[in-house]
Amino acid sequence: MAHDSELTDVAMTDSGCDVSTLHRPSGLVSHETGLRTSLLPLPTDRRSLGETAPLTKAQRTRPEISHPVVPSLKTRFPHGVNWPNVGWMMLMNVGAVAAFWHFSWIGLVTLVVLHFVTACLGVTLGYHRLLTHGSLVVPAPVKYFFSMCGMLSAEGSPLFWVATHRKHHVLSDQEGDPHSPNDGFWWAHLLWFKPRDTNEELEALFKRWAPDMYKDPVQRMLHRFFPLVPIGTGVALFAVGEYFWGLGWSCLLWGMFLRTTLAYHSTWFVNSATHVWGYRNYETTDRSRNLWWVALLSYGEGWHNNHHAHQRLARHGHKWWEVDITYMVIRVLKVLGLAKQVQDRLPETSHSA
Ligand SMILES: [Zn+2]
Ligand SMILES: [Zn+2]
Repeated sequence: MAHDSELTDVAMTDSGCDVSTLHRPSGLVSHETGLRTSLLPLPTDRRSLGETAPLTKAQRTRPEISHPVVPSLKTRFPHGVNWPNVGWMMLMNVGAVAAFWHFSWIGLVTLVVLHFVTACLGVTLGYHRLLTHGSLVVPAPVKYFFSMCGMLSAEGSPLFWVATHRKHHVLSDQEGDPHSPNDGFWWAHLLWFKPRDTNEELEALFKRWAPDMYKDPVQRMLHRFFPLVPIGTGVALFAVGEYFWGLGWSCLLWGMFLRTTLAYHSTWFVNSATHVWGYRNYETTDRSRNLWWVALLSYGEGWHNNHHAHQRLARHGHKWWEVDITYMVIRVLKVLGLAKQVQDRLPETSHSA
């Protein structure tokens, strides 16, 4: 059950939660709104930093830190390894390799279509720009449709994804950032979600960083049943492929295993590569960069420095050559009358580096 009395410390807008007004470390001033934010409560362990800790050390004009944020493996895995997650990822990767022995044109088309539906409509448009940042407003059925598309990506429930990403924005490359390359490239890329989280930790994460979504019984239900979605997708792909074309294995391996593996890495490169390589249009206090090949792989998410500088903007490509496919889709939704209050006005004053 939601604890409504505890769901009050995130600024709400018509479009949902404005992450730019989430609490920053003590005494900090929001980069976009200029609002002074308040103190965070006390910590339990380092991994839950941000849910519970007063981060007096960090400042908005903070220097880059070069030492690992999390000092030891034991600290990184206080409750052990999330073995179901490790097993799932291994299964996907093995299946992705096996796919090349089961090629079919039906399987390839299934991969391309589902990749767009899950990684673009689901993750970059739905999870990220709509649910995390409120960059646009859509009718409730459309919002839940995009939430479902995101769940088909097997990147976690909308609640988990949104809470983690908002925490990343507020604590970017500082203590408490869930996935900073300061802790090592591979930690930021794919190891950061391997530790096991207790139910209490997850609940604290959701309440702290996504209280607007945690209040929504539909989103809590989607989180509860999330593991069934990717498993059901795999079963359905095999059954449909086998029934109509006798290509069950091809549809499963290309439409599920290879497709999710490709989408995983394109999302993960945003966490790892675009905080390491690329150029900067804006001076930000994190390590975010714009990286063209990640932008191409991830439907525009690779213009990550632009995004860190102006988090609520629906358009992540700010120069004419910075192609942003997700924003093109948002513009189509706007023309169709399905998207309103699209945050698409580039800043008039240039903060270019
Ligand atoms: Zn973001
Ligand atoms: Zn980032």
